Amino acid sequence: MRKPFIAGNWKMNKTPSEAKVLAADLVNQLKDSTNKLLVAPSFTCLATVAEVVKGSNIMLGAQNMATVEQGAHTGETSVLMLKDLGVEAVILGHSERRHIYGETDAMINQKVKLAIAHGLEVLLCVGETIDEREAGKAVDVVNTQLEEGLKDVAEADLKFVTIAYEPVWAIGTGKTATPQDAQDIHLAARSKVADLYSKDAADKICIQYGGSVNASNVKELMGQPDIDGGLIGGASLTPDAFLPIANFNK
Ligand code: PEP
Repeated sequence: MRKPFIAGNWKMNKTPSEAKVLAADLVNQLKDSTNKLLVAPSFTCLATVAEVVKGSNIMLGAQNMATVEQGAHTGETSVLMLKDLGVEAVILGHSERRHIYGETDAMINQKVKLAIAHGLEVLLCVGETIDEREAGKAVDVVNTQLEEGLKDVAEADLKFVTIAYEPVWAIGTGKTATPQDAQDIHLAARSKVADLYSKDAADKICIQYGGSVNASNVKELMGQPDIDGGLIGGASLTPDAFLPIANFNK
């Protein structure tokens, strides 16, 4: 049985003081939740939010990290720095990293392996653009991103990995994949994990959906057999928007 996993990606929003207030509110209001929960503030807010979520049922996530451990990489953030702050998971391969900052599958794979080597959980984001979807290539694109992103990751290490299927055209646009369209890709991604690893690995892996999830569409999306949770952007920025999503099954 896969436990529902709801994660909030705060992106480049919230100052440290604002993040502290939001995190404290969520800790307080979600203390009885049995779902797996995570918030991913920006790097500058991690230390503050770490103090707030410490000892709670909300995990601390980062939104990215460098491909290497340390050194001459101006502007980058190391896995060692994240670990030292109490970060437990990292979002990798988000479409904004791929499409705005040119991250390749090879770079994302380096990050995935480095995060796992340091015991961080990984939320590996995959998803097609609108042109790829209209060309009938959605499954191929996701399969390639999975194959490349998970290259040389051992089956035993998949316990550190969550896949987040986020169609690029649905992120921050208000357009959501229909539950059936999302389910179709989730099923295909699970089959890909079975091909790459085993049926057991495919049955166990958590696959989140992301892309304009909100209080009105969350139940139907999460009701699909292969959708195990959500990676939430815009609707993770206020308790009013996030709580109904985090509590979708209450
Ligand atoms: C995201 O950034 O991961 C995301 C899904 O954003 P939104 O919920 O705003 O579409």
